[in-house]
Amino acid sequence: MKYRPFGNTGWNVSALGFGAMRLPATASKSGGPAVDEAESVRMIRAAIDGGVNYVDTAYPYHGGVSETIVGKALAGGYRSRVRLATKSPVWLIQKPGDFDRYLDEQLKRLNVEHVDYYLLHALDNGRWENSVLRHGLLEKGEAAVADGRIGSLGFSFHDGFDAFIRILDGYDKWGMCQIQYNYLDVENQAGTRGFLEAVKRGLPVVVMEPLLGGRLARPPLKIRKMIEAHPSGRTPAEWALSWLWDQSGVSTVLSGMSAMSEIRDNLVYAGRAETGMLEAEDRERIVTIRRAYRESAHIPCTNCGYCMPCPHGVLIPANFGLYNDMFMHENPGMPRFSYTHFFPDAGKASVCVQCGECLGKCPQKIDIPGWMPKVHDGLSGDVKG
Ligand code: SF4
Ligand code: SF4
Repeated sequence: MKYRPFGNTGWNVSALGFGAMRLPATASKSGGPAVDEAESVRMIRAAIDGGVNYVDTAYPYHGGVSETIVGKALAGGYRSRVRLATKSPVWLIQKPGDFDRYLDEQLKRLNVEHVDYYLLHALDNGRWENSVLRHGLLEKGEAAVADGRIGSLGFSFHDGFDAFIRILDGYDKWGMCQIQYNYLDVENQAGTRGFLEAVKRGLPVVVMEPLLGGRLARPPLKIRKMIEAHPSGRTPAEWALSWLWDQSGVSTVLSGMSAMSEIRDNLVYAGRAETGMLEAEDRERIVTIRRAYRESAHIPCTNCGYCMPCPHGVLIPANFGLYNDMFMHENPGMPRFSYTHFFPDAGKASVCVQCGECLGKCPQKIDIPGWMPKVHDGLSGDVKG
């Protein structure tokens, strides 16, 4: 494992962090998906045994069970080997006492008395204004620092550059920030400009969505061929992670790992992580790949699930995933066949009634109802493909 400065705090963080939002699934008693707790605990511990010293979770991940599982994984001496981050569900805070009530519930779930970083979750302009400032969450966070329940206050972010600067400059005691950053999102979200502004202020930058929900690890065929033609032998995932580690201001990269094999691979990549690790020619190659991505129609869904559940039963991320698959494999036959024959009718894009409930919940600002008719039309094409 390679370690990197956590901003100007003097602490060194592992190049790879564990993000507990895509834990492995298993079937529940009712037949629906549930988190495979035993495997998740094994995976988190394997990552820590491999040198990971930063673990990230949040109140809503996996319907609330992520924090409980992280708590179990960190028992037996693992807690002292990592810095632990979780996030305040700011959108649920409505009245005095809510901030502390959620924090105390989270500490209980995590089975700890203290988290190192407490992030105001998924801030955007609206949440900054209507939740953080309106309900005095910065002051409440400071009180929690003072009484020892949290080490320092940070935020995770999903909005544009201007909102990022507003939030960055709206408080002078941020302990860290967490942004979506990857080689496709250089102008989207905080983007490279926002990233550099945070670095300029000496703030630790934790990167999330380095692989855009796994999509950069499984690129369309055309892009895969471009990547595999390179003599370095780097996989698509390693290219994406290396693009981040190459930049000195990136403190740690959170990967939402779902299988032990992904941990093994990522630990190998993280063992090679160095600032300045890419050649000029490598960076040029990424620019070419980015261009190729932009030329392929795709919906920037990261499968985060924040839009779910849809009150009408639409399986939003699954529809988007299948739609994107049509472009991934340059052959729409398989995704169309799956949609027609295997996808539950009650969850299809065609079920969308355009109620707009999901609007505003998507951190990627995807026009979900706007896409649904196009997704259905695209996936209902020639199933013989
Ligand atoms: S707009 Fe469509 S997808 Fe969104 S919540 Fe309503 S029915 Fe579900
Ligand atoms: S549509 Fe948006 S909120 Fe829903 S899973 Fe995709 S990225 Fe997440």
